Amino acid sequence: NLNSYTTLNNGLKMPWLGFGVYQIEDGNEVQNAVSSALKLGYRSIDTATVYGNEIGVGKAIKESGIPREDIFLTTKVWNDDQRKNRTLAAFQESLKRLDTDYVDLYLIHWPVAGCYQKTWKVMEEIYKSGRAKAIGVSNFLVPHLQDILNLNTIVPSINQMEFHPYLVQPELLNFCQNHHIQMEAWSPLMQGHIVDVPTVQNIAKKYKKTPAQIVLRWDLQHEVITIPKSANPNRIIENTQIFDFELSQTEMEELDALDQSKRFGPDPANFDF
Ligand code: NAD
Repeated sequence: NLNSYTTLNNGLKMPWLGFGVYQIEDGNEVQNAVSSALKLGYRSIDTATVYGNEIGVGKAIKESGIPREDIFLTTKVWNDDQRKNRTLAAFQESLKRLDTDYVDLYLIHWPVAGCYQKTWKVMEEIYKSGRAKAIGVSNFLVPHLQDILNLNTIVPSINQMEFHPYLVQPELLNFCQNHHIQMEAWSPLMQGHIVDVPTVQNIAKKYKKTPAQIVLRWDLQHEVITIPKSANPNRIIENTQIFDFELSQTEMEELDALDQSKRFGPDPANFDF
C-alpha cells in the first residue's frame, strides 16, 4: 500500500512512492499540490533548493496537521552553493524555508566537477549533526559514485536518477544494488510522454490501469523508489493506485526492452549549470 517502505542502508525507512514538486510554483500552487498529496496518503515529498518552492512545501506540511515524524522530506543542495563552498549555509537556509529542524534526506543535486567530493564531507557533518536523517546523491553515474566510495566514509543512502523505460541503465542499477545504494527514479513518467508508448498502453489495457500506473509499478518491481509529479488531483490519486496488481516477468522484460538510453533531462556526464 501507499505506506509501504524500504529500509535504507543506515536503517531509515523511506516510502517506495513519493511526490515530486519540480516546476510547481511556490505559494498557492505548491501548497495546494502538497496538501492534496498528503490528504491522499502520500508521506514522502521531494523538493530542492533550486525548485524555489521550499516555503510552500513547508507550509503545506505544517498545515496538514500530520506529525512531522510521519512525513519523509527530501531536499537538495544546488550547484552554485557547492561551487561557492556554502553547502552548510545552504542547508540551514533550506531548513528555515521548510520551517523544520531536520530533513529526512539531503541530496547532492548534481555531481559538480571538482566539488562533489568536498561537498560530500560537508553532507557527512550535516548527517552526524542529526539534521538530515540520511544523505545521498542525485545524477551520479558509476565513476562519480566510485569517487565517493573511494573516500571510504559514509556510503550514500540514495542515488536519485532519471529513470524510465527509455533510460534503464542496468549497469548503474546493478552497481547501486551491489553497494547498498537505493535507486530513486526522477521523471519516472518521462515528463508525461509515457502515455504515448504503445507497449505501455497495451499492458495498461490488460490490467485496466493507465500507462502512468504501469510504469510506476515497473519501478516498484525493479525496487526503485519513484516520485511522480502532478499538480492535478485526479492524477495525484491515479499515481498512487499501483499496489494492487503485479506485472509478469515477461511484461517487465518487454518494458526493459524499450530502453534506448534516451534522456529527457541533462546528461550528468556533461552538464553546465
Ligand atoms: P514526471 O516524469 O514525474 O512527469 C510529470 C508530468 O507528467 C506532469 O507534469 C504531468 O504533465 C504528467 N503526468 C503526471 N501524472 C500523470 C498521469 N497519471 N498520467 C499522465 N500524465 C501524467 O517528471 P518530473 O516532474 O520531471 O519528475 C518527477 C520528480 O522528480 C520531480 O517533480 C522532482 O521532484 C524530481 N526530479 C529530480 C531531478 C533531479 O535532478 N534530481 C530532476 C527532475 C525531476
